[in-house]
Amino acid sequence: MYKIIDGKLIASEMRKKIKSDVAEQAKEGKEIGLAVILVGDNQASQVYVRNKIKACEEVGIKSYAYYLPAETPQNDLCGLISELAEDNNVHGILVQLPLPKHIDSEKVLKLIPKHKDVDGFSAENIGSLCINSQSLVACTPYGVMKMLEHENISVKGKKAVVVGRSNIVGKPMAMLLLNADATVTVCHSKTENLKDECLKADIIVAAIGKAKFITADMIKQGAIVVDVGMNRDKNGKLCGDVDFENVKEKCSYITPVPGGVGPMTITMLMYNTYLAAVRRCN
Ligand code: NDP
Repeated sequence: MYKIIDGKLIASEMRKKIKSDVAEQAKEGKEIGLAVILVGDNQASQVYVRNKIKACEEVGIKSYAYYLPAETPQNDLCGLISELAEDNNVHGILVQLPLPKHIDSEKVLKLIPKHKDVDGFSAENIGSLCINSQSLVACTPYGVMKMLEHENISVKGKKAVVVGRSNIVGKPMAMLLLNADATVTVCHSKTENLKDECLKADIIVAAIGKAKFITADMIKQGAIVVDVGMNRDKNGKLCGDVDFENVKEKCSYITPVPGGVGPMTITMLMYNTYLAAVRRCN
């Protein structure tokens, strides 16, 4: 019998707690602020930014939204980030990716100071995560750890397989699991015998970006399966990287799509902004 890990519920519980913690700070006169910068008119990015601002409203974080035209010169964007880096009202800075082609994203992101890098994408924060030192951790993998924690799933000593090695999901995910004492294997598009690797896993995290790619024959009986993927199936319906309907019966725990990891990501952004503010103030 499998249990579905309800990301929507966990995210909603976390947001309530963040809201009350943010309100406590406000009572002491400390208003927490998040700057969100969107360059250009990419429709998906506009939706993400809107959702982030909505989440700020929900938990009581003040958002500072900057909508810049697509042709904004890189120097202007850099100037804005440098100003926000110095602004004591702003505890987190988020630049919505992707940036227009004429802008060097790496150069721009480097200007966000480590303590305001609430996306946890900077080399400094990733480095701190690698040495298990205090950092702001990428929201999606951090959300996965919170989901496992919520279900009282200990990863200690377990064999975890992360499929995907992107800088924003796969790699930080592997580091978090390793820091929590799992034995971690990271797989990617060049991995030989992916099925054999997956079959050894007590915990699988799928972060591939291919609809229903992880099938039931790749899953060990009783495994915990976390699906980070967000794809459209051939009917245009939202689905994960895991073939949920066929895989679920083999699992002890599984996250659905939608309603699994997705709702955790923005919640962790709120949490990181709160953490960034509290660490600055104390
Ligand atoms: P990337 O495209 O950056 O990375 C995908 C990874 O999957 C790569 O490491 C790639 O390997 C690996 N991969 C691709 N094909 C295969 C294969 N055939 N076998 C094994 N590994 C393979 O994606 P992201 O990490 O950014 O995102 C992954 C998924 O998670 C996407 O569906 C995305 O939409 C979703 N996502 C969801 C979020 C949420 O909030 N729920 C947040 C962020 C992402 P290689 O490195 O060799 O190319």
